[in-house]
Amino acid sequence: MKITKITVYQVTLPLEHPYWLSGGRLYFDKLDSTIIAIDTDAGIRGWGEGCPWGVTYLPAFGRGIRAGLEELAPHLIGLDPRRTDFIYRTMDVALPGHPYIKSALDMACWDILGKATELPLCELFGGRIDQAITIQNSVPTGTPDEMIESIKRGQARGENVHTCKIGADVAKDIERIQAIGAYLPANESATFDVNRAWLVDDAMRVMNAVTESILYFEQPCETYEECLQVRKMTCHPIILDECIQRYGDIVRAQADNACEAIGLKVNRVGGLTKAKRIRDFCVETGIRMNIEETGGSIIADTGAVHLAQSTPATHLRATWLCHSMLTVDTAIGGARNQGGKTYAPEAPGLGVAPKLDVLGEPVSIYQ
Ligand code: MG
Repeated sequence: MKITKITVYQVTLPLEHPYWLSGGRLYFDKLDSTIIAIDTDAGIRGWGEGCPWGVTYLPAFGRGIRAGLEELAPHLIGLDPRRTDFIYRTMDVALPGHPYIKSALDMACWDILGKATELPLCELFGGRIDQAITIQNSVPTGTPDEMIESIKRGQARGENVHTCKIGADVAKDIERIQAIGAYLPANESATFDVNRAWLVDDAMRVMNAVTESILYFEQPCETYEECLQVRKMTCHPIILDECIQRYGDIVRAQADNACEAIGLKVNRVGGLTKAKRIRDFCVETGIRMNIEETGGSIIADTGAVHLAQSTPATHLRATWLCHSMLTVDTAIGGARNQGGKTYAPEAPGLGVAPKLDVLGEPVSIYQ
């Protein structure tokens, strides 16, 4: 089987509600997504999506993906898309680094492999585990009342695990944590995600002020070294997210006892191939994971859910479905919210059928 054509679409994804994170210093109201179709001489078409969370969250941006595809796509024409490791190696030689650019191509190759073997991706990632995957409600930075309103919207969708975005202001953060803690029912839980906003002393002041219960804090500071310093001075479990970008980062974090869990975001680490390697390392070494996308529509979300569906429940915290925050829907099928839980589709491959009228005209075609 050979790749004959790569078609690229750009889709703007408006958020239903404006979103602030990192203590309110970063603002988002829409996402720039790149959706691709890979056609083969066997008549099988695979789909993939790459969507950074805006341009300020990570060193990644939508137009960067499309510029990178211009470099990468010609190298893949004529290759067998079922050889996912070989495809990835080819991409890494053709364009070192830039992992987020490669994610959509990698996803589309996995979709083709699944369709060719008539297996859903979770079976190819180690096998479906019969479990419901918990969906996290993503709560933007706001006043305590605004954040509790956002928690209520998640509760209405059946979500009882909330990742609350804080940071930047010590007094306000303590107030937010205490208000949310007082509001939450006993059967619900919250993670406090700082998205890099604190310096080390901010982290110590907030985390030592809320020691009446054990809370998860996520990515307290910008750099790995700062987060490690925080880790050594707190009893609260630490989740590393933005600073886990490559396989070597998780190896180092495990050796340093730097975290109890990670956010494993598929686009950030370079796609499903790279995310699966990190997932397997975490299973072997006892690190819990949130497995989810960096952003995007149902196509991207579903790829992450397939990886989560094949991850032992003991090591899986939750996923997050970005598409439920959007006002457009790019595909039929996929991993949807079923009362706060989700499941990987049973259909071969990703199990999504993109809506061509929503994708519009391609922005580029390589053949
Ligand atoms: Mg995070």
